[in-house]
Amino acid sequence: MKHVTHWIGGQSPAGEAERHGDVYDPATGEVAGQVDFATADDVNAAAAAAAEAFTAWRGVSLAKRAQVLFAFRELVRQHTKELAALITAEHGKVASDAAGEVTRGLEVVEFACGIPHLLKGGFSENVSTGVDSYSIRQPVGVVAGITPFNFPAMVPMWMFPIAIACGNTFVLKPSEKDPSASLLLARLWAEAGLPDGVFNVVHGDKVAVDAILQHPDIAAVSFVGSTPIARYVYETGTAHGKRVQALGGAKNHMVVLPDADLDLAADAAVSAGFGSAGERCMAISALVAVDPVGDELIAKIKDRVGKLTVGPGADERSEMGPLVTGPHRDKVASYLDAGVGQGATLAIDGRRHPVTGGDSAGFWLGPSVLDHVTPEMSCYTDEIFGPVLSVLRAPSYEAAVGLVNGSPYGNGVAVFTCDGGAARRFVSEAQIGMVGVNVPIPVPMAYYSFGGWKASLFGDTHVHGTEGIHFYTRGKVVTSRWPDPSHGGVNLGFPVNS
Ligand code: NAD
Repeated sequence: MKHVTHWIGGQSPAGEAERHGDVYDPATGEVAGQVDFATADDVNAAAAAAAEAFTAWRGVSLAKRAQVLFAFRELVRQHTKELAALITAEHGKVASDAAGEVTRGLEVVEFACGIPHLLKGGFSENVSTGVDSYSIRQPVGVVAGITPFNFPAMVPMWMFPIAIACGNTFVLKPSEKDPSASLLLARLWAEAGLPDGVFNVVHGDKVAVDAILQHPDIAAVSFVGSTPIARYVYETGTAHGKRVQALGGAKNHMVVLPDADLDLAADAAVSAGFGSAGERCMAISALVAVDPVGDELIAKIKDRVGKLTVGPGADERSEMGPLVTGPHRDKVASYLDAGVGQGATLAIDGRRHPVTGGDSAGFWLGPSVLDHVTPEMSCYTDEIFGPVLSVLRAPSYEAAVGLVNGSPYGNGVAVFTCDGGAARRFVSEAQIGMVGVNVPIPVPMAYYSFGGWKASLFGDTHVHGTEGIHFYTRGKVVTSRWPDPSHGGVNLGFPVNS
């Protein structure tokens, strides 16, 4: 049985934790290890280590910070397979998908390597005669990240490379369901030359999260997870005077217009609906088929789903792994009966999908499609976060856009069409933060910012890219005059430029 513990001030603390959580292997259903749950004292210790490291780290030159980031980038690249194996073992996703999330996280590290350029301010000479003005951005201090189970490497890497590059020190509270990747990342930071205390990890549940949200020395919190917890983190963190960005859940629509390439659309719906067993915040979970394409599209989806191999993530044959826990699998499966009970048609029942090479006690659920779903059904109103695709039939483009914009969520959306004008109109009209045109999972690259609208994000700032730099820094504008022979004596008037 493995034992996962915290990383505070450059080491794992010795001694017994008061509380633990089980870490499962989703492919076997067995408990594979235990993770220590932090108390408020553990969080205090991590925050103290981060606060102590801050003064020196913010004084380290941009060139040296960039060197550490380059070294970290190389180490993560070299350990991609090892990280991916840890993720597969605890999350269940297939190895190629786990490696893919490490690669997308690395892109943020690579973006952060450009920190000397990213922190450049502006300078205006002679804003008044003999007076110059310039702007600088400074780190906010100790910052924290609280992250979900579904991307145990990538989502933390949306946050800490940029925070650390900007001169902050960091406390990460990863998901207790798959905690191991964060510890390997901590060791790689140390090997890359990051001073002790700049990056810390505390594991745990609500106790650790509340201690972070109430801690007087933690200046900013980035959160990614479900909408109810995102709202709670935003409200509690801001009530304690913190800067908070809290990314929540999603119900991502894919609209297929009548002129779309239906093979492309079917490939996309299956890939984006069932990749990572639908446990992606950018997964497609509502497919809106604009009349008359519904029946043909469903037939093409059925063809493709029938050929998918579901099995253990570590098995190279597998295209889709198990769900993360037994209770989550059961909850996801419950939407199938609920959907049928509310009038939907079960076009594909994932409970019958064969599992190739898997232990029967694993948390399996194959890909499912509910057809003729209507907006009041729970399979449509709820974020299911599993391999269940709900198909809605819309009579027109306007009705399809109405569905998209009627959703309380606003994370991602995709439109499939061969008509540039329709696509352009859709991009303009969709009230959603990230839009794909013939691209089903429009996750922005690291140098753009990731984030949804409405109940998918609380706060003003999206993650990574320029908005990430802004979130982890505070702006300052300096107006300076160096004595010259022409200063004019006392003047009590407000400084204006005459
Ligand atoms: P979750 O909200 O259950 O947990 C997220 C984090 O909050 C974890 O670290 C967890 O320990 C902590 N937490 C859980 N319950 C808490 C409570 N009552 N009080 C305080 N903290 C608590 O989310 P999850 O199940 O780990 O992840 C899946 C969710 O994350 C989905 O809703 C998915 O859409 C969302 N997600 C969103 C994005 C995005 O970019 N918007 C990205 C990935 C995942």
